[in-house]
Amino acid sequence: MKILVINAGSSSIKYQLFDMTDNKVLCKGLCERIGIEGSAFKHKVPGQDDYKIEVPMKNHEEAIRLVINTLVSKDHGVISSMSEIGAVGHRVLHGGEKFSGSVLIDQKVIAAIEECCELGPLHNPHNLTGIRACAEIMGDIPQVAVFDTGFHQTMPDYAYMYAIPYEYYEKYKIRRYGFHGTSHRYVSGRAAEILGRDPKDLKIVTCHLGNGSSISAIKGGKCFDTTMGVTPLEGIMMGTRCGSIDPAIIPLLMEKEHMSAKDIDTMMNKKSGMLGVSQRTSDNRDIEEGVKAGDKRCQLVENMLFHQLTKYVGGFAAAMGGLDAVVFTGGIGENSPRIRSFVGHKLEFMGCRVDDEKNNCRGKEVDFATPDSKIRLLVIPTEEELTIAKDTYEIVTALNK
Ligand code: AMP
Repeated sequence: MKILVINAGSSSIKYQLFDMTDNKVLCKGLCERIGIEGSAFKHKVPGQDDYKIEVPMKNHEEAIRLVINTLVSKDHGVISSMSEIGAVGHRVLHGGEKFSGSVLIDQKVIAAIEECCELGPLHNPHNLTGIRACAEIMGDIPQVAVFDTGFHQTMPDYAYMYAIPYEYYEKYKIRRYGFHGTSHRYVSGRAAEILGRDPKDLKIVTCHLGNGSSISAIKGGKCFDTTMGVTPLEGIMMGTRCGSIDPAIIPLLMEKEHMSAKDIDTMMNKKSGMLGVSQRTSDNRDIEEGVKAGDKRCQLVENMLFHQLTKYVGGFAAAMGGLDAVVFTGGIGENSPRIRSFVGHKLEFMGCRVDDEKNNCRGKEVDFATPDSKIRLLVIPTEEELTIAKDTYEIVTALNK
């Protein structure tokens, strides 16, 4: 069966087509600037040159139509007709408390995703647009929703509640939800496979470090705690997001700088993090370059990032009452030996031992702890799209049984 995975954003759609007989990516691509002047389409088939065109796409439906037409086209296609697509898997940001796993999409699910728009206003409406556009174009082909929040629904109440008046949880469902769930689920599961251990016996901290970053405590195969909150703003500092700050900073700045709630939101999401402190870049590669060149602000960013990461890893280890493995994933986690080495060496007081030679690698699976280390240190490239495809495949094949 072939599964199309769709990640629909406000003005972009990313897609990948998988052949589930061998989990291979048949092609992938991106529709950018949908509804904006200068819309562009990129399509990549492994082993072939990239196909890139500028083409007007007024809305998500037009973009998905272009994707399907390309998938079946003579020059760039990989299938002969749309009917070869067995199902579509959608990445959906927020499932609130309604979804702890992936589900087949029907009218009830659509209504529930709609209800979660309040909690994920920047993503859920666009995820729904993607779902509706696929339904319009592809008719009865089954569609599955895979939620970024789903894996974190196992957190105990004392991990997900905020210490604000309880009525706000009751009225508005304000609580920690967590994100990057598909990534944390995949890498923690893969870590157990690599270690040849039953997930039930493991305490793992997974560090998804990229433009957006989150860290999770996975105890017995289930999420026990995570750093992101109601929205993907809380936790460790990120490319342009501030992460956790003293909440009193908000009214203080509103008063001193005459900022509105919207100004504050933009400042915290788009102008903070590595970019805000360095005043230069939100990209970790540039920060690392800056550090090498002796730039003091870049050095400060790196020190802050390393310090915060170590605090979360150590804090989660204490909260779980032990630590068997730390997993690094995401663009930074997979590609930056510096950050991994720092965390590994900081954990030496817990019996962790780093093999710095093994750690000197990028983008591949490796266990860089020494054989006698009490904590395993793993790099595992994340596979969010494949995990969405696998969930979709599982749900759809169960339907046909
Ligand atoms: P992601 O959002 O997962 O795509 O991750 C993007 C982040 O990964 C950016 O901050 C990049 O600078 C960082 N990154 C990618 N490659 C490297 C690398 N070779 N060394 C350090 N950081 C990297």
